[in-house]
Order: sequence, then structure tokens, then C-alpha cells
Amino acid sequence: MGYKSDIEIAQEAKMEDIREVAKRIGLSEDDIELYGKYKAKVDYNVLKRTEGKKGKLILTTAINPTPAGEGKTTTTIGVADAIRRLGHNTIMALREPSLGPVFGIKGGAAGGGYAQVVPMEDINLHFTGDLHALTAANNLLAAMIDNHIQQGNELNIDTRRIVWRRAIDMNDRQLRNIVCGLGGKVNGTPREDGFDITVASEVMAIFCLANNITDLKERLGNIVAAYNMDGNPVTARDLKANGAMATLLKDALKPNLVQSLEGTPAFIHGGPFANIAHGCNSVIATKMARHFCDYVVTEAGFGADLGAEKFLDIKCRLADLKPDAVIIVATVKALKYNGGVSKNELGEENLEALEKGLPNLLKHVDNIKNVFGLPCVVAINKFVNDTEAEISLIENKCKELGVNVVLSEVWEKGGKGGEDLAKEVIRLCDEENNFKFSYDTDLSIKEKIEAIAKKVYGADGVDFLPKAKKEMDNFEKLGFGNMPICIAKTQYSLSDDPTKLGKPEGFRITIKDMTVSAGAGFIVALAGDVMKMPGLGKEPAAFKIDVDENGKISGLF
Ligand code: ADP
Ligand code: MG
Repeated sequence: MGYKSDIEIAQEAKMEDIREVAKRIGLSEDDIELYGKYKAKVDYNVLKRTEGKKGKLILTTAINPTPAGEGKTTTTIGVADAIRRLGHNTIMALREPSLGPVFGIKGGAAGGGYAQVVPMEDINLHFTGDLHALTAANNLLAAMIDNHIQQGNELNIDTRRIVWRRAIDMNDRQLRNIVCGLGGKVNGTPREDGFDITVASEVMAIFCLANNITDLKERLGNIVAAYNMDGNPVTARDLKANGAMATLLKDALKPNLVQSLEGTPAFIHGGPFANIAHGCNSVIATKMARHFCDYVVTEAGFGADLGAEKFLDIKCRLADLKPDAVIIVATVKALKYNGGVSKNELGEENLEALEKGLPNLLKHVDNIKNVFGLPCVVAINKFVNDTEAEISLIENKCKELGVNVVLSEVWEKGGKGGEDLAKEVIRLCDEENNFKFSYDTDLSIKEKIEAIAKKVYGADGVDFLPKAKKEMDNFEKLGFGNMPICIAKTQYSLSDDPTKLGKPEGFRITIKDMTVSAGAGFIVALAGDVMKMPGLGKEPAAFKIDVDENGKISGLF
């Protein structure tokens, strides 16, 4: 069947001048800085005016996904369009894409079908340069660490315990582990180092949690860059790097304003990983969006066990936000996957597997409602080849179990296909809301991790390997014990084993290692091997991406 590609749909869109989009939400030409005709950054002076009015905050999350993604971004965009169609002032707050996935396999992060943000080529490529600025800030600190050692190492940095790595916004496995500083005395001190993809840098996490420039500077200063010979942290502040790092980020920190295909305003700003970081757009953009509309729709990465948990326990806690409703995206494909169907057979109708996958969805619904106390609705993100029998089975089973469920057709129909979902979301925003975190930060690191594992994942308990235990004791001793926890684990399972699909029972979580992101303000507990520098596949998306003589891009999904 002849469906248009995302880029074809996006290129046919008639975009409105971004000044008009800004005006509609109350931002004057003085409030914005234009990056061409269709992109703008919002000035800091606006932030200072954002006390008072606060629009409702809606989070889009998902069940445990298939490797292709389940359509959280697409649903976020579509439902925001739909709420606006119903006559409400609406803004979406999304993450900005990284070049790694764009040229790798995952593809873009600007939605899909008729629920997209535009100009999608710009958003997916260099956009307004934020990712490049973040890369530079990360690497400035790296350069200053090695320079400090070269200039006499006054801080007595243990060159075997430099924890800061270099960054680049590209999938490049060759740089994962490197030896640098070769060439003799004038060329530095030889040591092992490595690169992470920029979105995995702590600078990205800090950027997304900062409330303003002063807060950004403070947090950058708290970064633990290395340890000295006595085992005490050496921070970016000790290295006198944080002022200059913040300077590099001064423009990046201004939220980017673009629009959806239907002209709904979109703040797209910041995009940290959802494993070693908290996985959602900047606090500044979310807060700004709330000030200028009645409904903000935002997205958190991966499934609800990782993305929503961190959005709620980390971002909402640190930024003092209280969400009003949650959308849990489910697809027929992901339910079948959770029911044990292999990746290449997901296209075939399989009611038995679908039903077998349902407990995964139910656990996430239970978590949102009962662990976090928030009103929620399940959105079935409809794919054109889902069968009617499959869709009815999910609808009927959910209704039988008292789970709120609505079909969403935003990919195929844009905002019009999301009106039922929008109505339900609006209704939920006025329902009783007993928002609570899944743990208190006063607890010990161990108790906090156990709380997440037991309550959110459904684990029986947590085992700590010796390395994790040693770091945990060390972090408590160094005074990092009262921070929230960011657990890095597989996105494919509620457990830490990607093959345990559906709703696993009788399992334990193993924490292998622990690091501290003292600037961002959380402890990272590693329940699996986390890849902070992805590689390209055998047939990377880059093979298909091209540009013609007029600068028109093709092959970008
Ligand atoms: P997530 O945010 O959950 O990772 P995305 O919204 O980015 O997912 O969607 C992942 C991919 O799936 C995108 O290429 C998108 O165009 C596609 N997609 C999402 N929903 C649908 C749908 N209903 N039908 C077809 N393709 C879809
Ligand atoms: Mg997404």
C-alpha cells in the first residue's frame, strides 16, 4: 500500500512562520531569537516571567518496548494536536534527537506519519546546535583535566581514577576505548580514556535538570571529574572549569520552539539517555511550556519502568513538578513481543500471544495508579496492519479488568485520530491525584534501590556485586547518600534480563556497579552492561540519506 514516508509528509507540510506560532502562545518577537523562519530559541527574560500560571502536565510513557519503539513521541505529538483541536491552548515538550541514532538504526525522534514536528530534517540533524555546544562543554572539561596534570597536577589527581570521558555526537565504536596522550613529555600523559555519545554525558543530564544559568553553573561545578591520591573527589569546580562550560552552554540552554504538522507549538530541548540518565527533556522547557498553555504533553524514554519512573522520581522531585495524568502507549506488536513472539513474526495475527503479553501492560498501569498515585489511560497506538480481532481483544480485556483504554490513530490521521484520547486525558487531569514518589531520598542507597526494584519492577529483592557494594559505601561516606537513584537496566524487560518478557515473577535484580552524577544530582546503579557509545550496524541509515543540488534531503526515514 502506498503510505508516504515521514520525510515526504514533512516536506509537503506548509509551515507557519515561527513568529506567528510564538505569538499564539503569548511570546512576542522580543521574546524569541530566530534561527531561520521556522525555528526559534526563547530568551531567558521569559523564564523570569514564568511564575504563576501552570498548565496541566501530561506524561506519555509506554509498556516494555520492541526494538523498533512503540510510538511515544508520535503519540505525544498527536495527542497535543488533538487537545488543541478541541479548543485548548496546548504545547508539547519533547527531547531533541542525537545524530547517533539518526545515522544508526533507530531513526529520527520527530514523530511519525501525520503526527510529526517540523522542520523534521533540521530537528533530526544540527537543529539549533545544542548538541554541539554540549559536546564542546563536555570536552572542555576533559581538556582541562589533562592540562591540569600536564601543568604539574597540583590537585594530585590519580591518573588511574579519571572518571570523566570525552564525548562526540556520533555512533562510533572505535572511540569507545582509546589510549591517548602518546608522544612524549610535551604531548601529555599517556592513559586509557574513551568517548561516550554526547547524550550519555552528564553534561546533558545537568543541562536538562538546571533551572537557570546560575543553577547550571553550580551543577557543572559539582561534577566529579576524577579522584585524587587520597580517594577524594576532584570536581569541575576544583579545576575551575564550570564557568567556561556554562558559557559554552548559554545559548543552548534557551528552549527551542518549533511546530507540529498541524501548527501546535513544540518545545524541543535536551535529550539525555533513559538508562544512565533520566531520559526526558529539559526542566526549563517543561516549566516554560506550562506557563504558556493549559495543557503540556511530554514524553519520557523507554518503557514506564525506566522512563516514567525517572521522570517521576528524579525530574518531578528535583524540579518540584506534579503531573496531572499519564498516557501509557501500548502496541499490538509490543504486546505480542511480550507474549513471546520473535521479532520477525510480529507482523502476523496472534491472539494467543497478544493475551499472554497483557500482564506487562497491566503491571505498568498498576505502577502508575498505585505506586505513583496518578490517573492514567492506555493508548493503543494503531498500526495499519493490526487486525480488528487484535485491537478488540486488547480493548475488551482492558475493559474487563477495569483498565481505562482508548484507541489512538494519530500516525494515520494526525490530531483528528487522537480526539478520543485527548478527551479522556483532559477528563483525567481533573481526577483525584495522589502523586507520590516510589521512595524517600532519606533512605540509604540500598533501601532506595530495593524500593524501586520491588515496587516498580516487581522483583523479590536486589543483589549487590562487590564492586557496587564498595562504591555504595564510598558514596555514602562522601556525602552523596541522599540523592535519588537512576537505575540503568535493559528496556526490554521489567527485570534486568532482556529475555524475561511479559510480567516476570520470582526474580532478583543484580546491581553490578555504581557511579555518581553529582552535578545532575543522582546515583547511577548499573543493573546490566550499559552501552554509552553505540556502534553503527551493517546497514546504517546513513547509507540511504542523501541531499540534492537544491539542498533537499531524502532518505531521512
Ligand atoms: P518512541 O518515541 O516510543 O521511541 P516513536 O514515536 O519515535 O517511538 O516511533 C518509532 C517509530 O515507529 C517511528 O519511525 C514512527 O514513525 C513509527 N510509528 C509510530 N507509531 C506508528 C504507527 N501507528 N504506525 C506506523 N508507524 C508508527
Ligand atoms: Mg521517542
